[in-house]
Amino acid sequence: MSQEKIPLAGVIGSPIAHSKSPQLHGHWLRVNGIKGFYIPMDVAADDLEQVLRTLPKAGFVGVNVTVPHKEKVMDLADLVTDRATLIGAANTLIFRKDGRIHADNTDGYGFIQNLRQNAPGWDPKAGPAAVLGAGGAARAVVASLLDAGVPEILISNRTRVRAEALQADFGNRLHVVDWVQAGNMLDDAMTVVNTTSLGMIGNTPLRVPLDGLRKDAVVTDLVYAPLKTRLLEEAEAAGCVTVDGLGMLLFQAVPGFERWFGVRPEVDSAARAAALR
Ligand code: NAP
Repeated sequence: MSQEKIPLAGVIGSPIAHSKSPQLHGHWLRVNGIKGFYIPMDVAADDLEQVLRTLPKAGFVGVNVTVPHKEKVMDLADLVTDRATLIGAANTLIFRKDGRIHADNTDGYGFIQNLRQNAPGWDPKAGPAAVLGAGGAARAVVASLLDAGVPEILISNRTRVRAEALQADFGNRLHVVDWVQAGNMLDDAMTVVNTTSLGMIGNTPLRVPLDGLRKDAVVTDLVYAPLKTRLLEEAEAAGCVTVDGLGMLLFQAVPGFERWFGVRPEVDSAARAAALR
């Protein structure tokens, strides 16, 4: 009698208890009637390599990767997509049948799809983008904005050298603005993105003056707890279209689920509700 193989996937990080991915993937497995499991795994840095070599043998088809392993997995993967190389980090691993580990970064895809779904009139080519922050998430945002055709990106970060590093990597469509002048870069911006952790529950809010914000700008925040950050509240009051960060989290999960389980999952209100449970 042949045994049906139950596909397993999961997310590895440390800590991992806060991750919303298990609820989301669990929801997609249920609504698509797939007999599979998605498991959160707390993995220490020292164990990462051994865990990645063992999981495929235990029936895993792939995993998501989160803090602090997103950079390290790049060295352990056998194949790395160009966009993951450009960003310098991977969040999605596919364990191929030939035993090789394929690494990709879907954060930029998630970022763009979130804007396309929730700000339907958004046109990346309409004018410059203003990006606040230059951490790991900012790299994916910058790469995807350039790919989508924004003519210019003004970027500002508390630690200026990190923004300058992005400029060195991504080229002359990027211009660095001093953190104390961050408000000035909003004047012409048609897309405004907070990629800092400011505004997250337990953190201080982002305090950039928004007086220069254009009414026809689209403003989005990567922070999704709370869903409506002060930045989004103020931008909405100024008449802008605003997009919260939860949709990015949902959309970045789509390519992995599709590769592992063979079905493209829906990002809809039920998926949002599942991630918020
Ligand atoms: P990261 O690499 O640690 O970068 C943190 C960023 O926040 C840096 O630009 C840092 O500036 C800035 N920052 C932190 N505290 C600050 C302060 N007190 N004043 C000014 N700037 C400050 O983190 P990350 O991975 O890029 O993530 C950034 C945020 O995006 C987090 O809130 C994360 O949850 C969120 N995120 C959301 C999604 C999603 O799917 N929605 C995906 C990825 C990340 P310095 O360089 O000066 O320290």
